[in-house]
Amino acid sequence: MCDPEHGEKKHAPSERETTGSLSPRNCRRVVVLGAPGVGKTSILRRFLRDGFDDRYQPTSEDFLRKLYRIRGETYQIDILDASGERSFPAKRRLSILTGDIFLLVFSVDDRGSFEEVVALRNEIFGAKAALLNGREPTRVPTVVCANKVDLPAEEWAVSPADVRGVFETSAKDGQNLDSAFEALARRGGLPPETGPSRHRRVSLRSYQALWPGRGGGEADGAPCGALYPLARRPSFGSDLRRVLGPRGAKRRNGPLEKCPVQ
Ligand code: GDP
Ligand code: MG
Repeated sequence: MCDPEHGEKKHAPSERETTGSLSPRNCRRVVVLGAPGVGKTSILRRFLRDGFDDRYQPTSEDFLRKLYRIRGETYQIDILDASGERSFPAKRRLSILTGDIFLLVFSVDDRGSFEEVVALRNEIFGAKAALLNGREPTRVPTVVCANKVDLPAEEWAVSPADVRGVFETSAKDGQNLDSAFEALARRGGLPPETGPSRHRRVSLRSYQALWPGRGGGEADGAPCGALYPLARRPSFGSDLRRVLGPRGAKRRNGPLEKCPVQ
């Protein structure tokens, strides 16, 4: 697959250089969960880069970052594919606690994957409530995708009631993904231009050139986004600080800013 955005590793600028004008209120972490093989990586590929790959490769990249310039502001979306933590409940719980937005995926030909999403939803609400000392979280921005709807009816293993109220998507033919990404942005308090069909994808270098103060300025003001190829998953310790930050920080100077720039 042609992926020009990944060809920049050697000359990529430092993270602080690239995200210098980023306000913490414009940073979000999307946590992606679901059974193996349901299409999470394929959906993310559509979200970040476009394209579809028929071969199944178990996920190795579990942390991705994309930067955007939209209407004069910089945004950062970090995506944590936490599905590798399936058999590590404590780690998964921490990942859940660090999430601002949740993308849950099941596949319509896999009944077990639907049940897993139901359980995950409860787990997410339970974890967020525990963080609020048992109070119900008012809202946890969540998008559920019933994926692989391109498969023929005889392969479906879920009922129409199971897919009611969720996004019936296909990472293969792109069906309904735009609506799912739009809901993700809206529920997560991000501009709709973060959706893949709503901005121009550029390399990190071009993106950097568009950043005011670095000789560029927004040439045409059109929204654009670039993958940040050097993003690494934050350590266990910094995830823990991210979760406990505001409470710990109260003892000092008020709430800790929750910007994920490490
Ligand atoms: P993950 O393990 O959840 O990340 O799943 P992947 O994205 O790696 O996809 C697993 C397999 O399902 C791959 O062979 C994909 O090509 C295939 N796949 C993913 N999404 C779809 C879809 O919407 N329709 C169909 N027919 N196959 C899909
Ligand atoms: Mg995967």
